[in-house]
Amino acid sequence: MKISKEIMSYCRFCNKHTKHVVRTYNKKPQRGLSLGTRRHNRAIRGYVGSIEPKIHPKKLGKKQKVMVECAQCKKTSERVVGMRTKKKIEIGR
Ligand SMILES: [Zn+2]
Repeated sequence: MKISKEIMSYCRFCNKHTKHVVRTYNKKPQRGLSLGTRRHNRAIRGYVGSIEPKIHPKKLGKKQKVMVECAQCKKTSERVVGMRTKKKIEIGR
């Protein structure tokens, strides 16, 4: 799946369409005090090891994300490109 280096997109900080620079998505580390982490810690309290996980249906591929940076205000935001796919994103052209 190919995506161009520069795209015109809506910026929620500038409140209008501006030119955006596309970058690869880097996953941020998990926050230790987020609600999900605290809930999990509460659930495994008193046990040794992990709790039995819920069985989720298998999804076909992942949604591909990119980071877009506004050329005017230099703020970045996430953006999902396309639907669920097994292909990886190529940024170029
Ligand atoms: Zn902006």
